[in-house]
Amino acid sequence: MKQVFLKYGKEESLLRRHPWIFSGAIHHFSEEPEEGEVVEVLMARPVDGRKYGDFEFAAVGHYQVGSIMVRVLSFERETIDEAFYERRLQSALQVRKAAGIVVDGEQSFRLVHGEGDNLAGLVIDIYGKTAVMQAHSVGMHMERQMIAEALKKVMGDQLLHIYYKSETTLPFKAGLGQENGYLLGGNADDVALENGLKFHVDWLRGQKTGFFVDQRDNRRLLEQYAKDREVLNMFCYTGGFSFYAMRGGAKLVHSVDSSQKAIDLTNANVELNFPGDARHQAFAEDAFKFLDNMKDGAYDLIILDPPAFAKHRDALRNALKGYSRLNQKAMEKIRKGGILFTFSCSQVVTKDNFRNAVFTAAAAAGRNVRILHQLHQPVDHPINIYHPEGEYLKGLVLYVE
Ligand code: SAH
Repeated sequence: MKQVFLKYGKEESLLRRHPWIFSGAIHHFSEEPEEGEVVEVLMARPVDGRKYGDFEFAAVGHYQVGSIMVRVLSFERETIDEAFYERRLQSALQVRKAAGIVVDGEQSFRLVHGEGDNLAGLVIDIYGKTAVMQAHSVGMHMERQMIAEALKKVMGDQLLHIYYKSETTLPFKAGLGQENGYLLGGNADDVALENGLKFHVDWLRGQKTGFFVDQRDNRRLLEQYAKDREVLNMFCYTGGFSFYAMRGGAKLVHSVDSSQKAIDLTNANVELNFPGDARHQAFAEDAFKFLDNMKDGAYDLIILDPPAFAKHRDALRNALKGYSRLNQKAMEKIRKGGILFTFSCSQVVTKDNFRNAVFTAAAAAGRNVRILHQLHQPVDHPINIYHPEGEYLKGLVLYVE
């Protein structure tokens, strides 16, 4: 195995089990690794006053050209083979079972959440009998077949199809080309269940793996608030919040998304659960424009679940302004005694940043606002305690007087 030697003193984060090694920490290689290759990482140990007197094993991981050069797979000396992936997938499944979200045949959950499950660069979502697998690193891409074999073993007869979808998540520079297709089975049934509600999963064309399972718990909470309310679901994508609101007894539900494709998916999902139900209407429109044109007090339950406004730290200031502006618009117009579910899925926006942005919005709107719930990502998106960067979803449920 090719070896990566760290600069003296650059092992500190590794000793704290952080799974990323940045290019600046690397001193030299035994031989330049190929993109995606499994490498051994060694840290310098001083001998007789010489900093590079000796080297000691630190970790094994996937090598990749870029600012994060090694994604650690293990801090033990272990072989990265099918059995390794089987152990890691088994452990991930165990966590989901412990949380009670694995329901035979009717399950939608994230089985692997990258670093949160000690598998940096890998995401696997399970929709009934289909798994959708995404590689975010070249290493995981190279090993996709091996991972698929391990996944089959771990999930057993529960799993009939594995769809690999990494077209948009792999580093462009690695030049790996288009890589979407079935690794197991094919022509899977595209209807899955979440808390007894049905939804189409468009793994062929949809965003991410096709459906956002990370809002499962928050949708359920929304359902409890929906009775007799007039609901506006902003940034609806596949309409998750909308059909939960309908089951919760909402009087009316309006779904808004700027993408016509998302509106089509929302209409199809509502139809699947509540055929011919006239309470629902969907609009392909820009959310900010919709809020500007909307009548005062038209809705008493509003959901704001926008895409990440900041993908990088340098975009943080503008992102926070964006969250403030959006929330202010909603708070100015929501009916008295209204409930606002508001979210941010930007990883660089902390819980405090977000709360501050919402505070600014409330003050500018001049309304009395109480925080009823503080929301976050669910159990199947666990945060590795050594990798706090894994925390991304935060939300607030507000009572607007
Ligand atoms: N709430 C959804 C997930 C939202 S993803 C769920 O529960 O699954 C974000 C969505 O915002 C995407 O569907 C995207 O098309 C939409 N979007 C992005 N910019 C928008 C804008 N300016 N106005 C309205 N929708 C927008």
